[in-house]
Amino acid sequence: MFENLSERLSGVFDRLTKQGALSDSDVSTALREVRVALLEADVSLSVTRDFVKAVQEKAAGQSVTKSVTPGQQVVKIVHDELVHVLAGDETEPGELKVDNPPAPILMVGLQGSGKTTTTAKLAKRLSEKNGKRVLMASLDTQRPAAQEQLAILGKQIGVDTLPIIKGQSAVDIAKRAKQQATLAGYDVYMLDTAGRLHIDQVLMDEVQAVRDVANPRETLLVVDGLTGQDAVNVAEEFDGKVGISGVVLTRMDGDGRGGAALSMRAVTGKPIKYVGLGEKLDAIEEFHPERVAGRILG
Ligand code: GDP
Repeated sequence: MFENLSERLSGVFDRLTKQGALSDSDVSTALREVRVALLEADVSLSVTRDFVKAVQEKAAGQSVTKSVTPGQQVVKIVHDELVHVLAGDETEPGELKVDNPPAPILMVGLQGSGKTTTTAKLAKRLSEKNGKRVLMASLDTQRPAAQEQLAILGKQIGVDTLPIIKGQSAVDIAKRAKQQATLAGYDVYMLDTAGRLHIDQVLMDEVQAVRDVANPRETLLVVDGLTGQDAVNVAEEFDGKVGISGVVLTRMDGDGRGGAALSMRAVTGKPIKYVGLGEKLDAIEEFHPERVAGRILG
């Protein structure tokens, strides 16, 4: 998912670690190359600037040029800074908060981001890995067959879906899901909200109304990782309007440049919790900043 960036950076650091001694200007040249590589990966300008500045300051502070293995030390500083930009102060992915049954999880995002697929992927994980009884409900009354789509996915993964009653509003369905989850003793209920092509007020009003009914433990924003900085903008908007607890970046199996992953935490302050890695219903992984930083540096 970070092939290009990884290749670029290993080029820079291979050269650096092969050189025995390093001058300040070798370090500056390498950091200029890091800057270009990050920008080309579609990392936002401000995040890139802060990143390079932090590395520069640490390299100067630790007098890397005077150390025995200066190249390795620069790589270590870059690694730590990558972890920081990916994770803030939390280096491990936060588990989903699904205690206190029935725990509501609200899934939000634009149409086509992979929201319904991700709902099913997470439901499958929660039921298979965590042994939770999960109920899924589609609140999408806009797109024809959206509710049926979720029901079909539910059958495939052996997770229950709320029976469809035509003509109900999103809020009515959310209330029914809550009631059903409580009465039937589900551990978790997942609400798959309707998306739109663009953020609009009607969408946000609906999501807010549903949020107020469900009082979700988690509000997960699903965004298409291939859209780079747009994904980060969408996250900022959703967070400002409905408040999100985390992000799922989809299509990270594609040849995206990875910038969304690198900018997301720094710009929105919200963690990436999972990445989607394909269309199959088990193609989802927890986002581990340490591992991702390791992968980026090859
Ligand atoms: P929604 O409109 O946001 O609910 O989007 P869907 O869940 O219907 O997904 C739209 C398309 O994206 C479907 O064809 C999914 O199979 C596909 N999709 C979802 N997540 C991923 C992913 O992580 N990787 C890839 N390659 N495709 C995905």
